[in-house]
Amino acid sequence: MTGKINLDDEKVSRLEGKIYTIADEVLDILKQLSQDNKQQLNSKIIAERMFIRDTVKKILEEPEQIKSDFGTDSSLFKNIADTVLSRISDLTPGSITSQLINLKDQLNDEAVLKDTTAWLDSTIRIIKNHFDAISKKNKELEEFMRQTMKHLEETELHMSSELTAHQQKFSEDREFENTISVNMNMMRQDIHAGNDLSSIKKAVLFKIENINKGIEKKREQDLQRLRETEMTLQAMGKRINEIKYEADEIKKKAAEIESESLRDNLTGLSNRKAYDQKIKETLADLGRYGVPSSLLLCDIDDFKKINDTYGHKVGDLALKKLASLLREKLRVNDFIARYGGEEFAIILSHTDLPGAVKAGEGMISYINKSVFSYKGNRIPLTISIGISVFKQNDDTITVFERADSALYVAKRSGKNNVKSETSLVKVPSTLERK
Ligand code: GH3
Ligand code: MG
Ligand code: MG
Repeated sequence: MTGKINLDDEKVSRLEGKIYTIADEVLDILKQLSQDNKQQLNSKIIAERMFIRDTVKKILEEPEQIKSDFGTDSSLFKNIADTVLSRISDLTPGSITSQLINLKDQLNDEAVLKDTTAWLDSTIRIIKNHFDAISKKNKELEEFMRQTMKHLEETELHMSSELTAHQQKFSEDREFENTISVNMNMMRQDIHAGNDLSSIKKAVLFKIENINKGIEKKREQDLQRLRETEMTLQAMGKRINEIKYEADEIKKKAAEIESESLRDNLTGLSNRKAYDQKIKETLADLGRYGVPSSLLLCDIDDFKKINDTYGHKVGDLALKKLASLLREKLRVNDFIARYGGEEFAIILSHTDLPGAVKAGEGMISYINKSVFSYKGNRIPLTISIGISVFKQNDDTITVFERADSALYVAKRSGKNNVKSETSLVKVPSTLERK
């Protein structure tokens, strides 16, 4: 047979090779020891001689062939990869959730597990793309800030040139006042000099002429300055408007980035990060104002079957469909988040447990009446809901756990129904659930 040996055989023959080498070395040492029979034969002496032999050293130091050994234990690799992907999806926004789920699903493929290089490459690529996108957005913001700083500098320049102009005007004013007072003094002197009337008249007229020229010059200077000031003011106004516009843009961009980081890309609903914020706010409102609120955890029934029967794309369509049904049925102020894969968390403010159960039942019947189909096939789409009400001594975990346990009861009692925390007699431990 020319078939390839499998990995186990390879491992075995590798091990056999090592054992034979060691056995050969032991024989050789025994031969040497028996030749100079002064030595007493014991395991310590053999061991000492073994350790200085290069072949033995090499075997002891030989790095494990990790990759192929990993390959034989695919469930170990699968478990590790699964855990790592879950941690990553907790840390990243919804935008890459579906890609991560795709990677998770690939782990069910035997061929992928036999050679994990391609799988690891695409995982790294997806995460790298995600971080590249984030750094691109940061660069955009940086550019905005740079532009704004430039405009501010220009405005500062205008202001300082305006200040210089004012200083210049001040000295021109002084010069003008000086011209007038010099001419007035000269007139006074001419009159007191006791010259005849016609020469006094001539001298005064000459001085008045000088004063007129001074006034004319001053008017022209003032006019010129006024024009310059107008132009500077116009330019400054324009710059200020540009800065205002840019500041608005920065605010908008920052708000976009913020809201994007809180949104699930597939369904457009809030994501897990937004849920984490909202649940804290809800607990704070309860503590401060005593506002009663309820938490509804919804989980699509037999969602795996939809994926398995119709494929992942249809699974995604089902998620979108459910998201829009929930949005349609609930009020604008009700908070809906895609908590995880096919799980949704709803927080109803000002709603007690009976009110929340009613809302949950309304949702179930609304979804039951709706039709989800793909290429003419009607696909069953139902959900189960578990409900808890926020209590004064709750924290984010306790209130979630009660809703989650109620959801478990709803699943156990046939799915497509609502159970509240009042139906929890004994909460089964995680182990019992498995
Ligand atoms: P149950 O009625 O008990 O809830 O069973 P289930 O099949 O709905 O639940 P299970 O937890 O066994 O399977 C959930 C599946 O949802 C597995 C996962 O591949 C799939 N899934 C999670 N997120 C996504 C997604 O974004 N898109 C698609 N298409 N599938 C997803
Ligand atoms: Mg689930
Ligand atoms: Mg489910």
